[in-house]
Amino acid sequence: MPKKKAKKTTKKKVGCNCVKDVNKQLEEHNTVLRTEMLYDKKTGKMRVSGPVIETHKLETKSRKSKITIFTLYCPFCGVKLKKEKA
Ligand SMILES: [Zn+2]
Repeated sequence: MPKKKAKKTTKKKVGCNCVKDVNKQLEEHNTVLRTEMLYDKKTGKMRVSGPVIETHKLETKSRKSKITIFTLYCPFCGVKLKKEKA
């Protein structure tokens, strides 16, 4: 008799609720974390990005626009945010 392997249903957890939780705490300070809506090509749906890192232009006179930096890991708990396969 082959040994029965206990099926582990523990999928690698991706994502967390930190942004939601932190936003709840920030609410009373009239503050919210900056996130962006991203278009997911795979699913064709829009989804909310992880917290965005605020950036500023080096040369304010330059017409070159600043870029947006998205976080791949949660800045609060370190969990990897949603996988993005290019
Ligand atoms: Zn987190």
